[in-house]
Amino acid sequence: EVPPFNTLAVDCVAAPDAALLPRVPGLPDELFEHDGTMTKREVRAVTIAKLMPMRGALLWDIGTGCGSVAVEWMRAARYAQAIGIEPRADRRAMAGQNALALGTPKLQVIEGTAPDALEGLAAPDAIFIGGGLSDAVFETAWQALKPLGRFVANAVTLESETVLMALHAKHGGELVRLSVNRAEPVGPYRGWRPFMPVTQWSLIK
Ligand code: SAH
Repeated sequence: EVPPFNTLAVDCVAAPDAALLPRVPGLPDELFEHDGTMTKREVRAVTIAKLMPMRGALLWDIGTGCGSVAVEWMRAARYAQAIGIEPRADRRAMAGQNALALGTPKLQVIEGTAPDALEGLAAPDAIFIGGGLSDAVFETAWQALKPLGRFVANAVTLESETVLMALHAKHGGELVRLSVNRAEPVGPYRGWRPFMPVTQWSLIK
């Protein structure tokens, strides 16, 4: 059900400047309203590459936060759709604002927590878990995922990394660790400022 052509025009009206930004994921962090819990641009780019945005495809973005992954997914392919699930009202509001500002006003943001909030949603082509990973969330999400669907989960805490490593041992897939450092001023000099490493598990159904 690819929507009619004129919905593109509506997207442009919502955010005229957004049309000038590249569609390739990895937009600068400053373009998003966020509270620090957002996936940073380098990791975001890798994450979305593994989710493989395609024309008209639907993403479930579990723990959407300020919506950075969902927004970039929707920007990356024509008619791409996304449902964000986020329990915090302040972050849902940021996701709504980012979606409007960056030209994806059709991002759907749902209040609730996974796995309960996943019930009854349309089957996705890709699933990203940026928060709230557990065995129950994985099982529910994996069951709903369409054949050949892409699954990606990122973890920064030891607790979520433990869950993720156990799931990898059981189900296979790819486990990678991404460490990003940015050069920042140290007095008159420059030094590498590390971000927290992200453990990323991905697999295709
Ligand atoms: N995905 C965001 C990062 C958000 S931080 C990004 O890439 O920019 C993780 C988010 O997961 C938090 O906002 C938190 O409120 C949310 N969260 C935690 N447990 C959850 C659950 N069980 N279901 C849905 N969201 C959850």
